[in-house]
Amino acid sequence: MDFSWSDEQTAFRKEVARFAREELQDDVILRDREQEFFWNGWRKCGRFGIQGLPVPAEFGGSGSDALTTVGALEALGYGCRDNGLLFSLNAHMWGSEIPVLSFGSEAQKRRYLPKLASGEWLGVMAAAELGGGDVFQTRARRSSTGFVLTGSKTFVTQAADAELIVVLADLTAPSGARGTSAFLVEKGTPGLTVTRRLRKMGLRTSPTAELSLADCEVPLENLLGSEWQGGEILKTSMEWESICGLASYIGTMQRLGETSLEYSRERKQFGQPIGKFAAIARKITDMEVRLESSRLLLYKAAWLKSRGEDSSREAAMAKTYLGDSCVQSCLDAIQIHGGYGYMTEYQIERELRDAISARIHLAGLEVPA
Ligand SMILES: Cc1cc2nc3c(=O)[nH]c(=O)nc-3n(C[C@H](O)[C@H](O)[C@H](O)COP(=O)(O)OP(=O)(O)OC[C@H]3O[C@@H](n4cnc5c(N)ncnc54)[C@H](O)[C@@H]3O)c2cc1C
Repeated sequence: MDFSWSDEQTAFRKEVARFAREELQDDVILRDREQEFFWNGWRKCGRFGIQGLPVPAEFGGSGSDALTTVGALEALGYGCRDNGLLFSLNAHMWGSEIPVLSFGSEAQKRRYLPKLASGEWLGVMAAAELGGGDVFQTRARRSSTGFVLTGSKTFVTQAADAELIVVLADLTAPSGARGTSAFLVEKGTPGLTVTRRLRKMGLRTSPTAELSLADCEVPLENLLGSEWQGGEILKTSMEWESICGLASYIGTMQRLGETSLEYSRERKQFGQPIGKFAAIARKITDMEVRLESSRLLLYKAAWLKSRGEDSSREAAMAKTYLGDSCVQSCLDAIQIHGGYGYMTEYQIERELRDAISARIHLAGLEVPA
């Protein structure tokens, strides 16, 4: 076993943390209140190479493996407190780039990947539906020139801004055979509309909305993969998201642990630093243990994925444990900071609201037949 990062990985992690600390700071409290996306940060990330992490060099990215990507996203989460920006970056990479990269034709890769890798275009996946259930309610049927999509989608990250949406729909063939297929739907396609912006508890700087597809025609060449390959495409996207999508939360946990330790040394009550009280010291220790065990689980999943081995079991454990750990560490950090922890300006209550999504957005999305 070798738990060390290579020299290149270490240097890259440091560079990402510096970039996040110096370039991705602005008034996130205000944008959280106004539910505004950090466009300037998004563009800076594009120039730095964040959106290009999983995309090979021939399509404008750096072609980083899962472990390097996890290390970079962890550093990004350590330096950047806008979890909504980080969430949108993840939705973009795992919801659009990975599906196009893994299942796209050469022409699709050439058309979409360079724009997605540079951040010029924002891409997402629209899978979730209002009704839930075992089969997608959004339907696709063949037409003389391609496919016609009809239905609606909910909880779509950046739905109003995305230039490219990977839509999952139930395709019925003239023979009666049916199954999930994936379609590349570009912004401005007639019939595609954003019907409602959704307000939410956390990750408020990453806008979420509902979509309607009303007889939305997509050309034949916009079928992603082959007919009925949608389930496999969703599974591949979810595998990447389960591993890399929560890496930034490790950076958050490290930052909160450090801030809490510092505060527990400075804040005095009853004549001594509060860190001397066993109840506070125990919380600091628990935060550190959660951070370290989250790292070990996630690094193992990413290491397996980087070696091309099956990582689904490790990824499932990592995402479950990490989501719970981050929520608990946010609660501990708030408790350690007392009344200040509860106040918006200390920026811990927002971390808690943002972290709760980690227990939800990766849960339950299964692959309909
Ligand atoms: C902030 C945010 C952004 C999102 N962005 C997108 C997006 O861009 N695109 C998109 O398609 N979707 C998106 N989603 C939707 C997300 O993928 C779903 O919310 C998630 O998959 C859970 O599905 P659900 O909401 O239907 O909950 P359900 O599946 O209905 O789950 C309800 C509860 O039941 C539990 N549960 C479900 N199945 C099981 C089971 N088999 N065993 C035990 N417990 C179970 C769940 O854990 C949960 O606690 C987003 C969600 C959030 C919160």
